[in-house]
Amino acid sequence: CGIVGYIGLNSASTILLNGLEKLEYRGYDSAGVTILNNNKLTTRKFSGRLERLADSINQQPIAGTIGIGHTRWATHGEPSDVNSHPQLNNDQTIAIVHNGIIENYLSLKNFLTEQGYTFYSETDTEIIANLIGFHYENDLFAAVRKAIKQLKGTYALEIVSSKHPDEIIAVRYESPLVLGIGEDAFYLASDIPAILNQTKKVIYLENGDLVRLTKEDYEIYDQADNKVEREIKEVTWDV
Ligand code: GLU
Repeated sequence: CGIVGYIGLNSASTILLNGLEKLEYRGYDSAGVTILNNNKLTTRKFSGRLERLADSINQQPIAGTIGIGHTRWATHGEPSDVNSHPQLNNDQTIAIVHNGIIENYLSLKNFLTEQGYTFYSETDTEIIANLIGFHYENDLFAAVRKAIKQLKGTYALEIVSSKHPDEIIAVRYESPLVLGIGEDAFYLASDIPAILNQTKKVIYLENGDLVRLTKEDYEIYDQADNKVEREIKEVTWDV
């Protein structure tokens, strides 16, 4: 029930954990992160308390300055390590986190199964990961754009790929997501408290907004695929 993302110069796992702790109030049954470092994805995810993830990262730190994080409120599949997010596509080159519910997941699952895909979790989210993989032709942003046009339901998503070492793609539809603008970094979160000790400059993404983040820049596209400028707001309250 919470999403965080970070792309910058500092330890992603530290910043993501901090953000996930701030989202604990939303409720959750599992937590996980994927860190992208050069062309490698490292995923840790556990059902139960956030401490399990924190202990794992403390005992065995994950190097990297780009990452996505998630606390789950299970809707499809029981709380378990395998159903926790991030979820990966079949060739494990794409990792995604998702808040929300995909209503047409069964027909998409049937379609992808016919195409030869296998599903290891019971989540609707793993279907999105493979749908993005299905559309992937060397352009992660384009693949996500194609995949979301087939989704019915609610979603805030973050996506990273081992084939794109300096990129996070994010999108929201009927689930909340804000973009934080830092000095040398960008942040994503389902709610402001998760990023407020990092930056007070935020963009409230609108329904259907699709975001491409690199270390240097961000681009936002609206639901009609037009590049748009969204107002940067200064948050005036503290947590
Ligand atoms: N529907 C997804 C799942 O059950 C996401 C749940 C959530 O919003 O945390 O894994």
